Parts: sequence; structure tokens; C-alpha cells
Amino acid sequence: MTAFGELPVLDASRCTRCGDCVEVCPTDCMALAASGPWLPRPRDCVSCFACALVCPTDALSMGSAEPQSAGSANAP
Ligand code: SF4
Ligand code: SF4
Repeated sequence: MTAFGELPVLDASRCTRCGDCVEVCPTDCMALAASGPWLPRPRDCVSCFACALVCPTDALSMGSAEPQSAGSANAP
């Protein structure tokens, strides 16, 4: 679980795979897969909301999802 218990949840239908969310993440816990961002290191997420705020298409929202479910559908 993260420090604040919230992780980014992806709406894949809105994601353009621009990579901005991965670039802005201060703890480097995000990675870009073929189908969009995912969280290879969810325990490093500090729930800063930066990825959700920077996303130009509002494809990310913060939720109390379990680490395994956040972006798991997009894992490579
Ligand atoms: S910033 Fe938004 S559109 Fe860009 S890769 Fe991340 S989730 Fe997808
Ligand atoms: S909320 Fe912050 S730490 Fe967590 S994945 Fe997004 S940018 Fe990275």
C-alpha cells in the first residue's frame, strides 16, 4: 500500500500513450507499456497526483485501488 493509499487508475480509452505521466512521476514508479502507463513499482507511489494532473486527456484518476489492479490490464 502507498503512503496515502491512492493509486492512479487508467482509463485506457482516453490514453494517447504520450508518456507525460511517466515523465512527471517523481518516484519513477510508472512505466509506459504498449497499451499505456502501468505501475511496476506501486509501493513507490506517494499519491502526489502529478500524473493525473499532467495527463492532457484526463485518462488518469486517483483511487483506492489495490496495487495489483492499478494498470494491471496494461502490463506488458
Ligand atoms: S499522460 Fe495521460 S495520455 Fe499520456 S500516457 Fe499518461 S495516461 Fe496516457
Ligand atoms: S501519483 Fe505521483 S508518485 Fe504516484 S504514480 Fe502518479 S506521479 Fe507517480
